Amino acid sequence: MTESEAGPGFSVPAMDSDDGSEITSDRRPESFLLRDDLQWLMRRLQEDGYTIVGPKVDQGAIVYGELTGVSDLPQGWTDQQQPGQYRLVPRDDQRMFGYVPGPHSWKQFLFPPAAIVATAQRVGSSWQMSTPDEPAPRYAFLGVRSCELSAIAIQDKVFLGGAFVDPHYQRRRAAVLLIAVNCTQAAPVCFCTSMKTGPRCQSGFDIALTEIDTGFLVEIGSERGRLLAETLPLRPAVSEEIRAGERGRADAKRQVTKQMNTEGLHDLLLQQLKSPHWETVAERCLSCTNCTMVCPTCFCSSVTEVSDLSGDRVQRERQWDSCFNVDFSRVNGIPSRDSISSRYRQWLTHKLATWQDQFGTSGCVGCGRCITWCPPGIDLTEEVRTLRHLAEAETAGVTVADPGPQGPSRQTEKGRG
Ligand code: SF4
Ligand code: SF4
Repeated sequence: MTESEAGPGFSVPAMDSDDGSEITSDRRPESFLLRDDLQWLMRRLQEDGYTIVGPKVDQGAIVYGELTGVSDLPQGWTDQQQPGQYRLVPRDDQRMFGYVPGPHSWKQFLFPPAAIVATAQRVGSSWQMSTPDEPAPRYAFLGVRSCELSAIAIQDKVFLGGAFVDPHYQRRRAAVLLIAVNCTQAAPVCFCTSMKTGPRCQSGFDIALTEIDTGFLVEIGSERGRLLAETLPLRPAVSEEIRAGERGRADAKRQVTKQMNTEGLHDLLLQQLKSPHWETVAERCLSCTNCTMVCPTCFCSSVTEVSDLSGDRVQRERQWDSCFNVDFSRVNGIPSRDSISSRYRQWLTHKLATWQDQFGTSGCVGCGRCITWCPPGIDLTEEVRTLRHLAEAETAGVTVADPGPQGPSRQTEKGRG
């Protein structure tokens, strides 16, 4: 982005931020939107024909759904997350985005859980095939976090980057406006710093907000964002507001304590395909598919052909599927991955190793959803740590015992965390 694309032409004064790093000139100029004027932004989006999708409280969690106004936002709510645990709890302030992403991700709007991808109609003695060509919904995503921007970029590679482009995803993706919100807090399951996907939004957004008590610092990320910002009651941010934003972003960075060592991970995992540790994980894994359903990058689906009662019309329906379902690997009546250990191994090695061969990127952005929403609290960072430990011992010719089917919290109690 050039200076002239960056919106209002005021600059951020040079100063030291609270995390000790200098606020440098490569940071975008920030303007300010008062808390009460967020409603203005939402009304503007609605007038422009967008359906606003963002965070709201539903069924005891902060999920993503259609928003009609500011009152739908989870103002005054936050969450507590641990492996296998999620709790919605009140905040002691009125922040609207003071939470860490929950069970939903934006993929449900770009790659819906169920879709009709083709229809066949009997015409005389032949069939006429058609693909749905309905206009894509015009979504404005409000509240996209940095790791989630990275997840969307990964799904872009999956659905748009190869020889075969998914037209459903392509239409929806082209229409979407991305309003990001920088994290000002992190959960114990977050490890975006290891995956270099956060916590600060760097690119891929139209507008990025940082929430402070009095309102929002606003960064422009695209021409579309600049045009929208021009219609808002913005003013240059003053230094106290910039400092408050820096403090919030630094808090989030400090709170990301979980780490995953990704060095040589591709080869390490593929050298451990016969490790007995996969059986150890399988003692805990329920093969419930939760980890793949909540993951913002998982993209497996199955296609079913459904005919009407007359047999004259057949719909080809696509649904989300999971590599944890035994039928997902069924070929000629036989599943090639008939054990939980083989399915967990498939998921982890695809996510962290062979995804790189396919798409030139890891399949993991470090959002931690698969850790929170795994009923027994299996933590992929702990599994990688154990596999690395076993591999290093093997290389050194030392025999070590597998740590066993222990939860990460119990391992932490023993000083392994
Ligand atoms: S790892 Fe956890 S969430 Fe994933 S299938 Fe196994 S039990 Fe379910
Ligand atoms: S594998 Fe887990 S931590 Fe990584 S992106 Fe998917 S849900 Fe998030």
